[in-house]
This record gives sequence, C-alpha cells and structure tokens, in this order.
Amino acid sequence: MPKPELLIVGGGITGLCAAISAAQQGARVTLVDAAVNAGTTANAGSLHVQLQSRFMRLYPEQAPNVEASLPLYLRAVREWDALEATHGPFEMVRKGGLMLAEDAEQLAFLETKARREADKGLDVEILDRAALERIAPWLGPQIIGAELCRDEGKLNPLAANIRLQAVARSLGVSLVRDRITSLLIGSDVQLRGETDSYRADQVIIAAAWGAGDLVSGLGLALPSRAEPLHMNITEPAAAGIEHLIQHAERSITLKQLQSGQIVIGGGWPAQSRGNHAVPEVLATSMLGNVALAGRLVPGITGLRVIRTWAGMNTTIDGKTALGRLAGAERVIVAVPGDAGYTLGPLVGRLAAELAGDVPGDVDIAPFSLARFAA
Ligand SMILES: Cc1cc2nc3c(=O)[nH]c(=O)nc-3n(C[C@H](O)[C@H](O)[C@H](O)COP(=O)(O)OP(=O)(O)OC[C@H]3O[C@@H](n4cnc5c(N)ncnc54)[C@H](O)[C@@H]3O)c2cc1C
Repeated sequence: MPKPELLIVGGGITGLCAAISAAQQGARVTLVDAAVNAGTTANAGSLHVQLQSRFMRLYPEQAPNVEASLPLYLRAVREWDALEATHGPFEMVRKGGLMLAEDAEQLAFLETKARREADKGLDVEILDRAALERIAPWLGPQIIGAELCRDEGKLNPLAANIRLQAVARSLGVSLVRDRITSLLIGSDVQLRGETDSYRADQVIIAAAWGAGDLVSGLGLALPSRAEPLHMNITEPAAAGIEHLIQHAERSITLKQLQSGQIVIGGGWPAQSRGNHAVPEVLATSMLGNVALAGRLVPGITGLRVIRTWAGMNTTIDGKTALGRLAGAERVIVAVPGDAGYTLGPLVGRLAAELAGDVPGDVDIAPFSLARFAA
C-alpha cells in the first residue's frame, strides 16, 4: 500500500516538528519553505511560560487568550524536555525565569499576575530582594523583587534548529525551497509554488505570518500578522546567569548561552521591508535594548555587542490556531500563539497527529479554527 502523502508549508520549528512526527508515523512528507523571515531562525531561545508583561501591555485585548492557553505552555516546555532528551543537546537549561520589579507598583502587578498563573498550574513565587540576592546577586541594586516561574527556561535555537533539520532528513523528509502561492482542494490538494507544483493527500499550513494569505480563499480569515523584532548578542562573559530574565514593565529578555554570550531581545521593534524581505535593524532599538539590559545587570555593561539582527515574529489573536479547515478537511492549520518557538514543537506534533488520525494527548478544541470562519 502506498504511504500517505503529506505536504507541509513552512519549515520553521512548527513545520519541522510536524514533519518529524508525521515521518515517525510512517507518512511520506515533503516540507516546502520559502526560506525567508522564519521566526525560528531569528528567535532568542527563551522558553516562555509565565504571562509576558510586554504582551499584556501591547496587546491587552489578546491577553485573555494567552492566559487561557497557559496549560499549553506547560505542556510545550515538557515537549522541549522530551526533544532535548531524544535529539539534543540544545544547550537547554530549565532553571526558571525571573520577571523583575524596580518599584512597588511593578511588584504588586507581579503579585496579582502570579496568583492568576498559579490558578492555571504554573510553579510561580514572588521573591524579595534578599531571596534574589541568593540566586541572582548580579542584578542591579534598584531591583526590589521578582516573580520566579520555575517552569521557564532557555536554549540555543541555532543548535536545536540544526539538529532537528538533520533528524527530519534522516527520517526521509524531503526539504524543498519554494514559496507556495495557491492551493486547490479536490480529491487531493494541489499546490502551486513559484518554482514548482505539488500534490498531496493532506497539507499542514505552518507558514506563520504567511498562513493567512494561503487560506484566505478557503473560507478562513486568519489574521496572521508579521511583527519585525530586534535582537542582540554580546561577546562571552563570566556573568553566570542561569535564569531567563524579563521585566515587569519594560520589553526585555536576557539570557546567557553556554558559550558565555548574553542574548538580549524581548520585543524591541525592527523596520519592516515587507514580508518577503528581512527587516532592517533600528539603531534606536539596539541602543535602548542594551541600555536597559545594562541597567538590570550592571556587570555586563562593558561587553561588546558582536551582532544584532532583526527577524519576523507572528501574532494572531494570542492563541494558537490548530485544526482542520471546515469545508476543506484536507487542510490543517498550525500556527502557534505568542512565544511560538516555545509552542512550536508541541503544536507541530499535534498537527501531525491530526493528519494521521492519531489520538493526541492534548485537547485541541480550544484552538479550533472556527473562531476565524470568514
Ligand atoms: C527576534 C525574535 C525573537 C523571538 N524570540 C522568541 C523566544 O525567545 N521564544 C519564543 O518562544 N518565541 C520567540 N519568538 C517567536 C518565534 O520565533 C516564532 O513564533 C516561531 O519561530 C514560529 O515558528 P513557526 O514554525 O510557526 O513559524 P516560522 O518560524 O516563522 O516559520 C514560518 C516559515 O514559513 C515560511 N513561509 C511563509 N509563507 C510561505 C509560503 N507561502 N510558502 C512557503 N513557505 C512560507 C517562511 O518563509 C518561514 O520559513 C521570537 C521571534 C522573533 C522574530
């Protein structure tokens, strides 16, 4: 009997993990990727679980969707644990994340947030300065406390991406560079690309910011939006920072890689040049981002930034979009919610299980596409 044919559009972390899972189930898988603006190749490697203050501030209307999804984030970091154990090392460290407060108002915000997160099963605790001193003595003297979320962590995305691509290849996944421009659904799925045409029994759309355009003719108004963001990395330092660092009010993520380098990002803007070109770095973002990092961790102020870059994040409505398309059931959409690198492996595997009619271990009904029916 011929193997089932599955085509996946989008070769970021979601599509890649969907491909690995489907190939492990025995499917014949082709992964088609336009190779531009993957958040996966630009991201900071933070494993996010607690609500990000940045997201709550910028997208308050979407924050309830992220909060409702917190149990999915807990499952997602366990998915990373399993991937690390099977295909690592990805330099993964899960010692928790600290969200810092510099004044009483910020600390009160964190206290309320922590209570809501604990209700959703997160392992969170508010630490005062004395407690912080024991685990993060290198923090600036103005930090009065922090929320510690023990579920969080960090990894090196370059290591993870390279290894997972090698795994996909070793399982026989065919990796193709092309940009899909149209889908036609009949007794199978016909896809037209810029350089070739494809047919498959089923398709998984894991194309992040590109997903909305691909399904717009199929009765789905998926509001996938591209969000260009800035990143920095320093030369190696001795600092010894084990936690993922964020701030209660300001946009920042800061972490140290195994190499000693400090990765600084957390949502400072970059300049869009359209979805099909890499965004441009903004000097204001670089300066603002590293100045804030230096204020929070004064010991790193003397380090040189050796590289900055800009990449494309994707936002929808704060919640993952995952499911079969009503009226075009051969099409499965898999776009992770906020902090999509954290969610990508789990969302990808669940999409592959949907394609293979394999019962999943997560109820995906809350992430159904029905909310976007055109
Ligand atoms: C600077 C930055 C830092 C980030 N840091 C973090 C972090 O620390 N932690 C975290 O959890 N998340 C982070 N994110 C978010 C995260 O990177 C993304 O949400 C995640 O990578 C999404 O994975 P994906 O596979 O769904 O999509 P992507 O990785 O964006 O991949 C989508 C792919 O689809 C392709 N594509 C699009 N349209 C088409 C088409 N028509 N045909 C063929 N291919 C197509 C694109 O070229 C791209 O390669 C960050 C994002 C950015 C930009």
